Amino acid sequence: MYDQIKEALEANLEEIRESGLWKSERTIASPQAARIRLAENGQEVINMCANNYLGLSDNLEISAAAAVTMEKWGYGLSSVRFICGKQEIHEELEVAVSQFLGTEDSILFAACFDANGAVFEPLLSADDAIVSDSLNHASIIDGIRLCKAKRYRYANNDLGALEDQLKQARADVGGTGRIMIATDGVFSMDGTIARLDGICDLAEKYEALVMVDDCHATGFMGKSGRGTHEHHDCMGRVDILTGTFGKALGGASGGYVSGRKEIVDLLRQRARPYLFSNSLAPAICGGSIKVLEMISESTERRDRLWSNTAYYRRRLEEEGFVIPGKEEPHPIVPIMLGDAKIAQQASVKLLENGVYAIGFFYPVVAKGAARIRTQVSAGHSEDDLEEAVQAFVKVRADVGW
Ligand SMILES: *Cc1c(COP(=O)(O)O)cnc(C)c1O
Repeated sequence: MYDQIKEALEANLEEIRESGLWKSERTIASPQAARIRLAENGQEVINMCANNYLGLSDNLEISAAAAVTMEKWGYGLSSVRFICGKQEIHEELEVAVSQFLGTEDSILFAACFDANGAVFEPLLSADDAIVSDSLNHASIIDGIRLCKAKRYRYANNDLGALEDQLKQARADVGGTGRIMIATDGVFSMDGTIARLDGICDLAEKYEALVMVDDCHATGFMGKSGRGTHEHHDCMGRVDILTGTFGKALGGASGGYVSGRKEIVDLLRQRARPYLFSNSLAPAICGGSIKVLEMISESTERRDRLWSNTAYYRRRLEEEGFVIPGKEEPHPIVPIMLGDAKIAQQASVKLLENGVYAIGFFYPVVAKGAARIRTQVSAGHSEDDLEEAVQAFVKVRADVGW
């Protein structure tokens, strides 16, 4: 039986290779950091493609906190929460997340992908509606697919388009149907920041809930790093925040839904990725609690991330590169190249010049909008960033764009 399928799969794989969409994985021979070593040749490169915004991925205080927690609480739970329950460390982390985000309660998941897969179905039925930004993360799209609510999509971050869809949704579900607006807090391909203040205004007008996935914001957006809701002065107006421990908050793994108490209570009863998937490992809980402590005590890392971002963006602009996000800068800094082939070549040449950054092209972004996406970290020194800018200058001259 398998022989037939094997052939078909091989043809499938060949198709992917031929269309230039094959994704190959690099092996890193060092911890995740501003500079990493590549396993293939031992080369040291500046890492410009990690979500390590606060530079915490290789932080020794955090790994020490994780190790201590592991010694005290063991390696794992070997159970889902509704069977063996939780440890105090899980509760502590949920409280810490709520305190940091300024929400009523929080519930942990194995990943934010699971949090987004969990959040829609228990809250919305076929009589309800979800109004979703067209550039939302894959996990939001999948979460919406798992739920029977009517679906509406609006053009990325376009408040006029959102209002049109809300009007339609309200007409379709009537006065009693629930409507939920779902958006990324920051859109990861461009570093565009969602217009949350306007979104919350419209939510009030059309009596909708607001769900924000703040994976590319928690820890550094807003003056104390709470996220996009703090940045846009919407604390208390967002009903549901989802997020990850796998990016700025130390980079290990794990996710959460945080928000209104009754929503979190219902998710504990009904969310399938919570009910049927293992509890977060104690070490990750301990590490994440430490991270939240550190960034609550001091905004030093957040501040360094933003000064690094300002420096890097300014230098790229001085060198004549086209980078979006001038009005509302974010540490995601895409360098626009247009052509997919050039983006691929540029990314190879950059690596030869000691800079690790990845090209994105169709279908991940629109045709003709190929770019190298770079991401600034608090762990970068100004020298690292200057070296990256110089590598871009050199590669542009070599490849030509
Ligand atoms: C990374 C990311 C996720 C997935 O988070 P994990 O914890 O890695 O599963 C979800 N949503 C957005 C917007 C992301 O950027």
